[in-house]
Amino acid sequence: MRYISTRGQAPALSFEEVVLTGMASDGGLYVPEEVPTLSHDDLAAMAGLSYAEIAFRVMKPFINGEIDDETFRGIVEEAYATFSHDAVVPLNQLDANHFLLELFHGPTLAFKDVALQLLGRILDHFLMKRGERAVIMGATSGDTGSAAIEGCRHCDNLDIFILHPHNRVSEVQRRQMTTVLADNVFNVAIEGNFDDAQAMVKASFADQSFLNGTRLVAVNSINWARIMAQIVYYVASAVALGAPQREVSFCVPSANFGNVFAGYMAYRMGLPVERFVIATNANDILHRTLAANDFSKQELKATLAPSMDIVVSSNFERLLFEAYERDGAAVAELLERFQAEPTALADAPLARLREKFASHSVDDATILEVIREAHHRTQEILDPHTATGYRAAERERGDAAVPMITLATAHPAKFAEAVVKAGFPGVPLPPHMDDLLEREERYSVLPAELSAVQQFVAENRR
Ligand SMILES: *Cc1c(COP(=O)(O)O)cnc(C)c1O
Repeated sequence: MRYISTRGQAPALSFEEVVLTGMASDGGLYVPEEVPTLSHDDLAAMAGLSYAEIAFRVMKPFINGEIDDETFRGIVEEAYATFSHDAVVPLNQLDANHFLLELFHGPTLAFKDVALQLLGRILDHFLMKRGERAVIMGATSGDTGSAAIEGCRHCDNLDIFILHPHNRVSEVQRRQMTTVLADNVFNVAIEGNFDDAQAMVKASFADQSFLNGTRLVAVNSINWARIMAQIVYYVASAVALGAPQREVSFCVPSANFGNVFAGYMAYRMGLPVERFVIATNANDILHRTLAANDFSKQELKATLAPSMDIVVSSNFERLLFEAYERDGAAVAELLERFQAEPTALADAPLARLREKFASHSVDDATILEVIREAHHRTQEILDPHTATGYRAAERERGDAAVPMITLATAHPAKFAEAVVKAGFPGVPLPPHMDDLLEREERYSVLPAELSAVQQFVAENRR
């Protein structure tokens, strides 16, 4: 299996190359050239298997034999042993036919752990095999940075530098990053805002000469291996509820679209899915596009669900590639127009999307109302991201006989501000993290200057 770009110009790559590369040279994103299939029998045979075993079976065709089975099984088992629940991603029943898929039992309490625990280990494996080292650089306003650090802290061949805006991330989120005292982990607090940090990371990828030939790797959500890892929990949860004999639907709190795109891949592989409901917060580009064919940027709004605060949804390009029947030139043309001005999808691709996707946008006031309502009805305290999903799932339910699985993307303790605003006293951190506020921290404060940051990276990488 090879991987091709959504814009049709970049060379096709192997799995190993795609994992080490990130964005394609034509500005597109890599997708598998053919979608592997999971037959009815393949799915039926997964009933009752461990999460790691299902993960091995679902991902194997994407790996293409580039990691031998025994090694890959070991990587998968190690990655998911870091989760604090034996089911890794347990289902929690909310009503007769509505379920929460709890994706927050990993080391940083949000769903990004599912992909990053695996990606760090896969990267380390390929680097060891090549006898190379690599540097990871990323900017974060919260979830991704801590999940990337936890995913790489044990990787011998990787050094990770995560930039966050100084004094502008919550204490819990900062400490989840800065209390990891591993030798290959470097936290940098930038005297500026998130955009400053992001811009310096982008500039460093554009001109990597400051690293004298060492590879710079991105672990953001455009990395194919992250999508691949996320396909697994769609399959595992559907099988737990009766797939392939029974269809299910999914509701996904969405921003960059990596998560729900992974669900769509599971469907394309053969998982019977009635529909996907995309939940957004007030940053509603995905909802506007699907509901009103308004594919345009709007100003960023800071919401109570900050990990879904985006202007552009980068992985949506992967779905557009399918909706435009894999016409890379058409996708490139649409996205160039989108960068310049408000635009719209052509009729046929939009109609194709609407066959499988519904959407709903949830504002801050409604997030608070939903947290109270869900608690009243189920005794569960939802985090604000999951709350958008809870409401969207109810509003866009479709066939009530089909089980609805809403993805719980974060633990409520991680977003206590919204929970407290909704009128609750707060949520304690889970036991393995209850001393987080007492742990020793380590980070460096640097000015928002590219040369200072690059010098720091060049001097400290091992
Ligand atoms: C990243 C994140 C999302 C959005 O996921 P995408 O894959 O970007 O659509 C939703 N909820 C939480 C808690 C997140 O951290």
